[in-house]
Amino acid sequence: MRRIASRISVMTGEGALAVFSRAKELERQGHSIIHLELGEPDFHAAAPVVDAARDALAAGRDRYVSTRGIAPLRQAIAGYLARTRRLTVRPEQVLVAPGCKMALALAMMALIEPGDEVLYPEPGFPIYPSFTRGLGAVPVTFRLLEKNRFQPDLDEIASKITPKTRILIFNSPNNPTGTVFSDAALACVAELAAKHDLWVLADEIYARILFTGEYHSIHALPGMAERTVIIDGFSKSFAMTGWRLGYAVAPLEVVDAMDMLVLNTFTCAAEFTQVAAIEALQDSTNAVEAMVSEYRKRRDPFVAGLNRIPGFRCVPPDGAFYAWVNIEETGLPAEEVQTCLLEEAGVAGIAGAAFGPSGRNFLRFSLVSSRHVLEDALERMERVSSRWRAAIPR
Ligand code: PLP
Repeated sequence: MRRIASRISVMTGEGALAVFSRAKELERQGHSIIHLELGEPDFHAAAPVVDAARDALAAGRDRYVSTRGIAPLRQAIAGYLARTRRLTVRPEQVLVAPGCKMALALAMMALIEPGDEVLYPEPGFPIYPSFTRGLGAVPVTFRLLEKNRFQPDLDEIASKITPKTRILIFNSPNNPTGTVFSDAALACVAELAAKHDLWVLADEIYARILFTGEYHSIHALPGMAERTVIIDGFSKSFAMTGWRLGYAVAPLEVVDAMDMLVLNTFTCAAEFTQVAAIEALQDSTNAVEAMVSEYRKRRDPFVAGLNRIPGFRCVPPDGAFYAWVNIEETGLPAEEVQTCLLEEAGVAGIAGAAFGPSGRNFLRFSLVSSRHVLEDALERMERVSSRWRAAIPR
């Protein structure tokens, strides 16, 4: 009988897209919708990056290129990581892919066997457990709870490591909580990884979007370079989501394995985007700093406003561009609050269960709209909060 492979039925998508479709439908019907559901910057690539892409295309840089990424880009990535994260990485350890998701998928395909256990953060990026299941492996959560300020509980992680645990994935700053893992947490994760001989997959896609301090990568800790795969790219930090450009930094044997997968699948990332990405990494117009400074100016009043809405509670995120809001006091399921906000207030956010079961009393809103739009969203939410205000204990 003709059939679809069973791996597909164990995989899941991303919650944001379902809300986005409904929001678009409401817009078509004439409703005004404020989109706070997607994780897509409202900025675009900096002008010199666009110019570099245009020049590259005009110069005929539209050919098949190295499966690992063009040498000058891999060199530029190594230099960029040295400058922004103080990492010592050789260009040979870099592999360029069309998007972080693809880099993540290649790394997971290269490292995970059926039956392996994969530790991942919950709430977290839903693709981690989905793709793990798709590979016939078993996703095992470690939770990021509000009572721990969304930092990992290292005892919980230790208790979940078994002889089948192969890899620990984490994302700092985390989507959706905005948590930047503390130095102590990074050191403990590193210690556990060394003790149990685990691979660590560090999804650093939001590493540049930090509201305080300097980014510390687990890769820099003693002994970690040999067991860490960094996933990063251009979508969030350089506001280049649709360019589809990401990369992995990994020990050479992992890069070789990923390279075999590239050869068997997409062959290479587009040449002209890679040429332009070199320009992005120069930070020649300080576009990243300007963008992060704008996110910060949005974060503070938006989080303060959310905390004024009856039944809502939000810890300011340390990084990324999301507000993760506890709505338990409303007495309503998050899905109902999500629907009420969308249908009655025209504000699109995502019910937190899309990021795992401990997100069930949360909503995620993105900070990717201008300050006045966020103010408007707050006013609209305040207005519909009359629906649940009476139920809130004083
Ligand atoms: N990792 C995390 C944690 C993300 O939030 C996202 C996008 O939302 C990705 C990876 C995917 O990035 P890209 O668009 O570069 O594939």
